[in-house]
Amino acid sequence: MKMLKDINEVIMAISESKLQPKNALTSTNYPDALVYECGCGDFHQVNDLSLVIFAVAMPVKFCFICENKYVSFVHVKGFFRQEAFTIWTCEAELFQKAIDDLIPDANQK
Ligand SMILES: [Zn+2]
Repeated sequence: MKMLKDINEVIMAISESKLQPKNALTSTNYPDALVYECGCGDFHQVNDLSLVIFAVAMPVKFCFICENKYVSFVHVKGFFRQEAFTIWTCEAELFQKAIDDLIPDANQK
């Protein structure tokens, strides 16, 4: 798990991760035992409904925001027996700043 501390690292991670908006096929219907390590120091169940799925990437990667305001990019591996690997994680505030930087028009009306 890579802890991103700096806005440039986050921007780099976002562009390398090929994030897409979640879609109709986005499902986190996994067993309760499937947890990922989060930057907030906790482990969260991938199927936890309190998580916000911010984005997805092919094939089974999810960008979660947990209630402790940490963003984690998680890769679910395996078919019959899944494991969740956290690729990177950062504070939600830093993530937001990176998004604002990447898409400067997003906040302008
Ligand atoms: Zn967390």
